[in-house]
Amino acid sequence: MGKLLIVGTVAFDAIETPFGKTDKILGGAATFIGLAASQFNVNSGIVSVVGDDFPQEYLDLFHSKNIDLTGLQIVKGGKTFFWSGKYHNDLNKRDTLATELNVLADFKPIVPDSFNDAEVVMLGNLHPDIQMSVINQMEKRPELIILDTMNFWMDHTLPELMEVVKHIDVITINDEEARQLTGEYSLVKAAAKIQTMGPKYVVIKKGEHGALLFHDDNIFFAPALPLEEVFDPTGAGDTFAGGFAGYLAATKSVTYENMKNAVVHGSNLASFSVEKFGTQRMKSLERAEVNKRLHQFKTLTQFDIELS
Ligand code: AMP
Repeated sequence: MGKLLIVGTVAFDAIETPFGKTDKILGGAATFIGLAASQFNVNSGIVSVVGDDFPQEYLDLFHSKNIDLTGLQIVKGGKTFFWSGKYHNDLNKRDTLATELNVLADFKPIVPDSFNDAEVVMLGNLHPDIQMSVINQMEKRPELIILDTMNFWMDHTLPELMEVVKHIDVITINDEEARQLTGEYSLVKAAAKIQTMGPKYVVIKKGEHGALLFHDDNIFFAPALPLEEVFDPTGAGDTFAGGFAGYLAATKSVTYENMKNAVVHGSNLASFSVEKFGTQRMKSLERAEVNKRLHQFKTLTQFDIELS
């Protein structure tokens, strides 16, 4: 069993979609990553911070999924990171209504001794200085460092983000973010440019249009499973990243070939995440359901064409 260290937000989210609205519910990048990775035989731990307003029920959920919380700081009298977003009819687009950093503003991550030898480090979406601090605390260079980020950090902390990007192996970002980071409209050109910045593997997420994996001159594509209903896309990107990282940590192989499978596992898990509000679907997800849908993925993408 491989070890996976996850850093990212553990949050309260308030979400509005065309199908409904929620008050503060469990969210955060590290939350979705951890829940997705727990589908694999992996020893995962989260480094993050919450306030003492964070309910025990949520902590129990992490424990029930065997996610180690030694690295989760609980700040007395502090308020948990809060994010609120609204989706319109085009679920690929959302407006951020509020981002309240709260306890995240002064967060100094501490990687527990039990996880400073993790083979895979998944740097989920948060301040790049926090991501860098986690890299610096590792006892030795992990076999694989994966980074996920978003436009918020590109807008506010670009130099710090570029420093982290130098130290990573894989970046997972969405198409708009890849364009913002590189100034290139073509995703092929954008991926090539990103590979000169540090990461040798670039994963570009295109929401309901699937995900692309770039490495040198190779490109691999995995579609998103066409779903009858998408209820809430929040966390799809993080769930994808968690599935990707969890699979690679569990299989202990960080080759391009294995990353293709990891992209498919990530897409597969993301297809569940969007079916209900927040973490609801991932909380109850069974391995049998996951396997069944993997078969659907295979049928969706396989064809037998004669090549001359
Ligand atoms: P995704 O839909 O995969 O982009 O992830 C949504 C999750 O990211 C939500 O659960 C939020 O709590 C979290 N989130 C939103 N904005 C930020 C931010 N600026 N930094 C870190 N996490 C964020």
